Amino acid sequence: MVEKVLEVKNLKKHFTVGKGQTLKAVNGVSFSINKEETFGLVGESGCGKSTIGRTIMGLYEKTAGDVIYAGENVHELKARNMFSLHRKMQMIFQDPYASLNPRSTIREVISEPMEIHGVYKNKREQLERVYELLEEVGLSRDHSNRYPHEFSGGQRQRIGIARALALGPEFIIADEPISALDVSVQAQVVNLLKRLQAEKGLTFLFIAHDLAMVRQFSDRIGVMYLGNMVELTDSEQLYNHALHPYTQALLSAIPIPDPDIEESRERIILQGELPSPINPPSGCVFRTRCPMAMDVCGLEKPTWQEVEPSHYVACHLYKESTNKKESSIKVTIS
Ligand code: SF4
Repeated sequence: MVEKVLEVKNLKKHFTVGKGQTLKAVNGVSFSINKEETFGLVGESGCGKSTIGRTIMGLYEKTAGDVIYAGENVHELKARNMFSLHRKMQMIFQDPYASLNPRSTIREVISEPMEIHGVYKNKREQLERVYELLEEVGLSRDHSNRYPHEFSGGQRQRIGIARALALGPEFIIADEPISALDVSVQAQVVNLLKRLQAEKGLTFLFIAHDLAMVRQFSDRIGVMYLGNMVELTDSEQLYNHALHPYTQALLSAIPIPDPDIEESRERIILQGELPSPINPPSGCVFRTRCPMAMDVCGLEKPTWQEVEPSHYVACHLYKESTNKKESSIKVTIS
């Protein structure tokens, strides 16, 4: 039986900016993540995906909605229980250099969470665990006395991963963990995360703007646009049968390594800029860039509905359907 680890229910996170304006970074997002699953969250920069990660961790207070982790409402936990929760739930950040203290050795960086949580009374045991963690992420114990600036970007991200593993978490939020890395190193880090997941039974929320990379690592994918989730399904279904016009545009931008197919395929170019989340469009937030927009799209926000088994979409193109199987636009990217 599938065990849900995390449930995000109608989550909203709004910020007050400037002269009392409201920035709706996350505006009513719902999804769940199953045990040992990787859930990918994808969308352009500014769509709210990182804000979701930080609100799940409790780094941001929610504006509305609920985050339930292992049956507990994260934002209702007392400080002591939140502290315990952070042993189970850890984060890997986008910029490994910014997230590592430049004045600390790698040994200090990795042992810091263990010290804060009082995991080991014996310093020797703690040091042995640091060595083990370095080896688990493909580094060596000899690296432990060096400083962050002595490492490459890929190695620094490995250090960030070792630090995230230090408390033996069950659930990891990886927030753009490969965006700052060279393409050749990105695949190595993704493979490392996959191996660690298989060995330790980890559950991941994998946040990225690159749909091709998210697909490689994720079992299911949620697509975000301007603070809203617009489509959610399993990774193969999304890639072969995307329904939302925004997802179709994202997919059409992924290069295909076959020159004949690449030359003949149609690319969907989105017109215009991403609107401001301070003043989002009425109705469907994607309507100002949607090639399929209709009059109703400016008047009513599309509802989130399951149009095929385990395939959710928010788009008026599917609203009128009484027979789910009839309501589909097919896109084939192959
Ligand atoms: Fe496009 Fe309308 Fe669907 Fe929004 S609801 S994605 S504007 S067709």
